[in-house]
Amino acid sequence: MARVAFIGLGHMGGGMAPNLAKAGHEVRAFDLSEEALAHAVERGCKRAKSTDEAVEDADAVVTMLPAGKHVAEVYRSHVFGKAPKSAILIDCSTIDVATAKAVEEEAQGQGYTMVDAPVSGGIAAAEGGTLTFMVGGGEQGFQQAREYLEKMGKAVIHAGEAGSGQAAKICNNMLLGASMAATCEAFVLAQKLGLDLQTFYDISSKASGQSWSMTSYCPVPGVGPETPADRGYEGGFAAALMLKDLKLAMEAAQKAGAYTPMGGEAADLFQRFVDRGGGNKDFSALIKMIDDSWKT
Ligand code: NAD
Repeated sequence: MARVAFIGLGHMGGGMAPNLAKAGHEVRAFDLSEEALAHAVERGCKRAKSTDEAVEDADAVVTMLPAGKHVAEVYRSHVFGKAPKSAILIDCSTIDVATAKAVEEEAQGQGYTMVDAPVSGGIAAAEGGTLTFMVGGGEQGFQQAREYLEKMGKAVIHAGEAGSGQAAKICNNMLLGASMAATCEAFVLAQKLGLDLQTFYDISSKASGQSWSMTSYCPVPGVGPETPADRGYEGGFAAALMLKDLKLAMEAAQKAGAYTPMGGEAADLFQRFVDRGGGNKDFSALIKMIDDSWKT
């Protein structure tokens, strides 16, 4: 049994931390929100009064925080110099590549081993321990982190050096955002051309237009396997989070000098959708904006 400090017990962390406790680890949890902390304690984690207290004597520190500024602040003010140097530091938040690299460089400078390990999979995968982790960092850090990540996920993949996990995550989600936008457009056009949507699904999901957005996450209610579209676009992956990831991808593309017109278009579409109040809806609800006459 290891001592694991878990910081950030929101939608994702609140599901992940109890899976480490179930695996037999002593999980010392902390969140600024009392409600989130109490929920984790009910589910087998131990209450810490602060991040400083949680990381004291820890074998591993796991963070699941909203954005780069929170990650930088938590590590610089509450983990470095407070956690033992032997602790493996694992940031699972989705943040910008530059901050991930900077914080990992500082960790290394102070004698720590740190990895970035963002996830694919939403709240249900966090609860069910079926996340996919993409890990950036050295081989030794990857091996150390894997032992903990395996208890929270179905796949743990080494993406490369520091920041590579974040790079893989935003490239994947840029592809997902653009493919979902294109899938929504295709269904709207198919409808306007008089095609039966189930028939179009049956054809395209077996033809060259097939993608995960169509086959596994169809934005049309009643077509394909059950998806958030069948639940009024509730649950699933919030459009606001898709927009966050697309913005991170655009920022990274600009810094890297990469030409990403489809990603840019997807970012503009999701920005308009969020501005119209769709931020809390599943991201496949974009189809409603693409065709305002959509009857759902
Ligand atoms: P969330 O806002 O629900 O949870 C974040 C938690 O961090 C909150 O409970 C907040 O109180 C806590 N927090 C913030 N600053 C803190 C600090 N200084 N000390 C302690 N706690 C602090 O967010 P979430 O949906 O759980 O997402 C977490 C991360 O995972 C994000 O980076 C997000 O992009 C990523 N992600 C989310 C999903 C999803 O479906 N929700 C999927 C994949 C990845």
